[in-house]
Amino acid sequence: MKSTKQSLLKSLSIIRTFSISTFLHILQEFKKLLVYFSMITFSGLLFAGLPKLYVVTTSEDLASIARQIGKDKVEVESLTNGSMDLHFVPAQPNFIVKANRADVFIEVGLDLEVGWSPRVLQQARNTNILPGQNGYCVAFQGVDILLPPQQEVNRSMGDLHVQGNPHYWPDPLNGIIIAKNIRDTLIRVDRANDKYYQENYQKFTRQIKNILVANLKLLAPHKGEKLISYHQEFDYLVNRYKMSITDNIEEKPGVLPSPARIRYMIDYIRKNKIKVVLVSPWSNIAIARQIANESGAKLLVLPIQTGASDDTDSYLNMLKVTGKLLAEALKK
Ligand SMILES: [Zn+2]
Repeated sequence: MKSTKQSLLKSLSIIRTFSISTFLHILQEFKKLLVYFSMITFSGLLFAGLPKLYVVTTSEDLASIARQIGKDKVEVESLTNGSMDLHFVPAQPNFIVKANRADVFIEVGLDLEVGWSPRVLQQARNTNILPGQNGYCVAFQGVDILLPPQQEVNRSMGDLHVQGNPHYWPDPLNGIIIAKNIRDTLIRVDRANDKYYQENYQKFTRQIKNILVANLKLLAPHKGEKLISYHQEFDYLVNRYKMSITDNIEEKPGVLPSPARIRYMIDYIRKNKIKVVLVSPWSNIAIARQIANESGAKLLVLPIQTGASDDTDSYLNMLKVTGKLLAEALKK
């Protein structure tokens, strides 16, 4: 700025002793001014289109919620798609590239991504998104965890849920807790838009509550219903609607059931008159189907992740679809 003012004064003083050479000199100074003004215009444009926060999540559910809270202030990308088993994700080099340029990193936690996400964070060379830093968000904080950590179980015994059951997002009320954790993280990283994130969170909360009310109404006739699931991933969901999972086909989460276990489950379903066997699209549907067929129960493949089916293209739609499918399966 100072140098430009000086240039102007210089240009004016030159006019007093006008000649061809001074005219050329003025022209040169004028060109400098033009460059200066175009720079101002360019920086103005940059300001108008401020870069969005780049948010990387480990799941499509977290990505969908982050989009609702961050809206046009964020660009959100999930490292996985909705049809993947989040316990077993093959880490790809582009995960590290994305984490490297992320402003915010959000994960489910409770060891769900323990096989791949810690490696991504370690190798990303981005200290802002490491656990404990402003750009890191673990979404379960505040969730009432089912099966909290037990001393006697560990991963070497094949159990995938040693930190407690990590499949908490299909419960609509946990969706509100996740949204709150994401809101707080966005505010930490981008304080200037505090109010914007608060408002989006309030709106999202109202939408979830409306879905919950509708689903509660839909499932009210089935209160107290007992169900079976393949993997321990439906408990938060069915508990919210006052139903329960009384046993799982997997004796331990992540362990393939033995033929003896399969026979036991067929008998168990018959004896207890269980109507529905739940399985997710990424689990062993063949075994679940065999057990359902032989015991006379109905098999329900429930898309409990955003993007697991065509109609679960957002977290809110996933909540609606799971409620509707559960009610339909239990009606018959
Ligand atoms: Zn699991």
